[in-house]
Amino acid sequence: MFFFDPHIHMAARTTDEFATMAKMGCVVVGEPAFWMGYDRTGVDSFVDYFRQLTEWEPKRAANVGIQHYAWMGINAKEAEDVGFSREVIAMLPEFLARSSVLGVGEIGLHKCTANEVTTMLELIDLAMKTDEQLLFHTPHLEDKYKGTRMILDVLHGDSRIDRSRVCVDHCEEHTIRLVLEAGYWAGITMYPTSKANPERTVDMVEMYGADRILVNSSADWGPSDPLAVPAFMAAMRRRGHPQSLIRKVVYENPLAFFNQSRNFQFSAPEA
Ligand SMILES: [Zn+2]
Repeated sequence: MFFFDPHIHMAARTTDEFATMAKMGCVVVGEPAFWMGYDRTGVDSFVDYFRQLTEWEPKRAANVGIQHYAWMGINAKEAEDVGFSREVIAMLPEFLARSSVLGVGEIGLHKCTANEVTTMLELIDLAMKTDEQLLFHTPHLEDKYKGTRMILDVLHGDSRIDRSRVCVDHCEEHTIRLVLEAGYWAGITMYPTSKANPERTVDMVEMYGADRILVNSSADWGPSDPLAVPAFMAAMRRRGHPQSLIRKVVYENPLAFFNQSRNFQFSAPEA
């Protein structure tokens, strides 16, 4: 069965892992702009990173038969310096116009500070002016519920937002209901040590249904698993769920969400 990994940081992973993902059936990856483990010291570092995500990574993916799409933004971990963030935001439109870019992401909150909110508001405003989809990162562990509420409050206060074009990612058991009931797409990230895992993700699909759920590995340079989506598929099979439901979660849902981006040009492989 084919699958998407709609949220993965392949810039931090090897070509061998790309090849293994392809062998497992991965046909599309979505790579949001991210914090690379260290704070960048200038706008040029962002320019180079955005070029990597839009020029080099698509080639590396295409070599193994995977289509690579990216999201452009400033992760909350680097959004505290509002002045610096504004310099980055000023050059984002050039990259948002590139043919493999799906929208503005991942943006959101980390420590839920006033400065992070200011940067997030300016990124949302840019996305609305350029008619982009949005991908939100929600904070870790004890900050997750508060941060998710804050992001939803900001979105609810902006009448320009089309909720069907927004994904709120890294949902867990205590936040996913808020996101789904408000009409957004809910991302679930499966990590070895934090966030959710494949078994808990199956639990959430059983509790809330499969509509508007996107499952991903968010694999990056830390403890993470680029094969988390196939692990979820195996867990679904073990629990006796039909192929049609598994396919909806790992293929049809991300296809429907990505299809709302004007730059998404997916040619489906023969089933
Ligand atoms: Zn991420």
